[in-house]
Amino acid sequence: MNLEIIEEAEHNIMHTYNRFPVVLDKGEGVYLYDINGKKYLDFAAGIAVFALGYGNKEYNDALKEQIEKLIHTSNLYYNLPMVEASSKLKKASFMDRVFFTNSGTEAIEGAIKLARKYFYKKHNTNDSEIIAMVHSFHGRSMGALSVTGNMKYQEAFRPLIGGVEFADFNDIESVKSKITEKTAAILLEPVQGEGGIYPATKEFLLELRKLCDEKDIVLIYDEIQCGMGRTGEMFSYRSTGIKPDIITTAKALGCGVPVGAFAAIEKVASAFEPGDHGSTYGGNPLVCAAVSKVFDLFESMNLLEHVKEVSAYLEQRLDELVNKYSVIELRRGVGLMQGLVFTKPVGEYINKALEKGLIIISAGTNIIRLVPPLVITRENVDEMIQILESSISETEG
Ligand SMILES: *Cc1c(COP(=O)(O)O)cnc(C)c1O
Repeated sequence: MNLEIIEEAEHNIMHTYNRFPVVLDKGEGVYLYDINGKKYLDFAAGIAVFALGYGNKEYNDALKEQIEKLIHTSNLYYNLPMVEASSKLKKASFMDRVFFTNSGTEAIEGAIKLARKYFYKKHNTNDSEIIAMVHSFHGRSMGALSVTGNMKYQEAFRPLIGGVEFADFNDIESVKSKITEKTAAILLEPVQGEGGIYPATKEFLLELRKLCDEKDIVLIYDEIQCGMGRTGEMFSYRSTGIKPDIITTAKALGCGVPVGAFAAIEKVASAFEPGDHGSTYGGNPLVCAAVSKVFDLFESMNLLEHVKEVSAYLEQRLDELVNKYSVIELRRGVGLMQGLVFTKPVGEYINKALEKGLIIISAGTNIIRLVPPLVITRENVDEMIQILESSISETEG
C-alpha cells in the first residue's frame, strides 16, 4: 500500500523535499502511526509544532466547535477568537500589538516590513539596511530567504531584497562592524534552529539590546522555533529578560493549524497604518480558536514546569550518549530543543531509528535535532534513548 501512495505523491508533488518512505496516518499522544499500523515514537513533533501531542481532546473540541460556528471572516470585520488570541499572545510575549499570519515565513515578512516602515517614517527615506546572522533560518519566501544566512538556499534565486548584511552569531564585534546610519533592524533567533541548535549567549543579547537602544535600531527575535514553551519559557528570551522590539512566532503557536504572528512594542507597531500590510486568511476564527486554546492548555497543563523538569532528564541521558560514543562530539541546546553534534553525517542513524519506530530529524548534515512534543515523559525519553543508542551501535558495527 505504501509504495503506490509514495509513487503517486512523487508523480504529483514538486520535488522540493527528500521525504522518508513513510505514509503517516494518525497520531495519539506522542506516537504516530503509518497507514500499515506501524507505531513511531515522535521526537520531531512535525518540526517543533505539535507541542501538546496528538489528539488532545480539549484542543480538538475547541476546533470542532469553531468549525461549526464560523471558519473565516476576512480582516474587514472583527471576530472574537482573534481578539482573545491576541490578548493571550500579548500577555505571553510582553508586546503591545499583534498581527496574525499564516506561517512563520509570513511573520518574518511582516517583521521586515514593519521595521522598514518604522525607519521610513523616522528618516523619510527607504534607504535602509537589516543585519541578520550567519547560519540563520527565517523561511523560503523572497524576503525571508534574503535574511536567511545560508548562501546555498539563496544562490539560484537572486536578486533577493537588498540591504541585508550578515554578521557572525554571538559575536558583537561582527555586528558592530556591519552597523551604519542605514541600519533599520537586527534580526536573530535567540536559539538558532535549522542552523544547528545554537543558543545565543546572554551577553550577546545584552550587547545587541544596548546597541539597538543607542541607535534606535529595531531588535527582532525570531522565536518561531524556540518560542512557545520549547525552552521552558513561553518565549525563550524570558530567561534573560532582554526584550526585543518585534517578536515572530509560528510552529507551536497553533499546534498544527497554519498560523504565525509578529508582535511589536507600541513605538514600533504604530508605524503601520491602514493599507500597509494585510492577509485574507490571517488570524481567521478557526486558527485563532486554536491559538487561544493552546495558551489555555499551556497553563492548565503546567507545561513550562513540565518542560523544565523533563528536559533536565533528557539532557542527562543525552550526555551519557556523548560520553559513550566517540562519533558524538557534543550536545547543545535548551529545554526540549536539543542537538547532538556528530563527527559525520547523521542520515544513516536517522533512517535506522525510523525503521525501529523512532522519528527524529537533522539540523544540517551532522546534527540530530530533538524537538519532541512538550508533553513527553521520562519513560518516553528512555524509550527514545534506547532506540537511538541501538541505531548508533548497529550503524557503527
Ligand atoms: C520554521 C521556521 C521559519 C519558517 O516558518 P514556516 O512556518 O515554515 O514558514 C522561520 N524561522 C524559524 C526560526 C523557523 O524555525
